[in-house]
Amino acid sequence: MEIFQVDDHIWAIDHELLGLPGVGVTYVARGEEVALIETGTALTAPQTLAGLEALNIPRDAVRHILCTHIHMDHCGGAGHLAAALPSATVYINSSVAEHLANPTKLMASVRRAVGEEAWPLHGELLPIPAERIRPAETLQLDLGRDVVLTAIATPGHSPDHLSYRDHKSGGLFIGDAAGLVMERWGLIFPVTPVPTYNLVAHQQTIAMLRELNLPRIFVTHYGPHDDVDHQLGFAAERLDELVDLVHRALADGDPDVDALAARWVPYPDDGPAGVVARSWSRMSVAGMIRYELKRRQAAENG
Ligand SMILES: [Zn+2]
Repeated sequence: MEIFQVDDHIWAIDHELLGLPGVGVTYVARGEEVALIETGTALTAPQTLAGLEALNIPRDAVRHILCTHIHMDHCGGAGHLAAALPSATVYINSSVAEHLANPTKLMASVRRAVGEEAWPLHGELLPIPAERIRPAETLQLDLGRDVVLTAIATPGHSPDHLSYRDHKSGGLFIGDAAGLVMERWGLIFPVTPVPTYNLVAHQQTIAMLRELNLPRIFVTHYGPHDDVDHQLGFAAERLDELVDLVHRALADGDPDVDALAARWVPYPDDGPAGVVARSWSRMSVAGMIRYELKRRQAAENG
């Protein structure tokens, strides 16, 4: 577990998502109250709690746990954290809140999406009592000491995806709304996962974010980045490349997801980062193929 300060009032706890450093963080925003943004998975909750202790934050000072969307690496640890942080309320888009209260269906869907190789790295969700879950889509959270967070809808990667603007710094907790920027592992690409990926929404979200002229993005995978326009532009380009790859593969017949994933995100097959690279690139290729086939079907049905 590694902690770094990313602004006057914001810290990042590297909770070693999927067993690796440099892959996932939980952000800690401190006013008079403390909010966590993103939870990692069930398996990373102990590192997040150790990080809070290292920051001398008492457990009952954490009042808010904000999730950007319903994927397990963003909200999978919410149940374990809520159990350990008795004063915290969990916020997520109300369209998916039921999955945190009753996670069985979500876990089955994630298992299909990430594949058997990566599934054991995700852990089991703990249900959260429904009264501790609140809708996040209209969230305006005043933590005191001028620290205010507000939600912005950023669909595409998933339909429920929200990002949280930090008004004090102007920065945005962007979740997976644009793409991964995992520099330590040389993995920089947008994730377009099965089963609910939407290309048009994703492109519109990236364009909308570019219009905001954000000074900084706090990426969940991974860390703060000040070259915001470059990162958003790069995500849009990589998306175009994937669309092109998928269109050509579909034109040639039955697409081979593994082969396409290896072409889109080439990665040496030498260690645990390879598992992450393969899982997320396969999931993205499969998500883009599924999106495109659904789009064609809808066009045919007029
Ligand atoms: Zn995600």
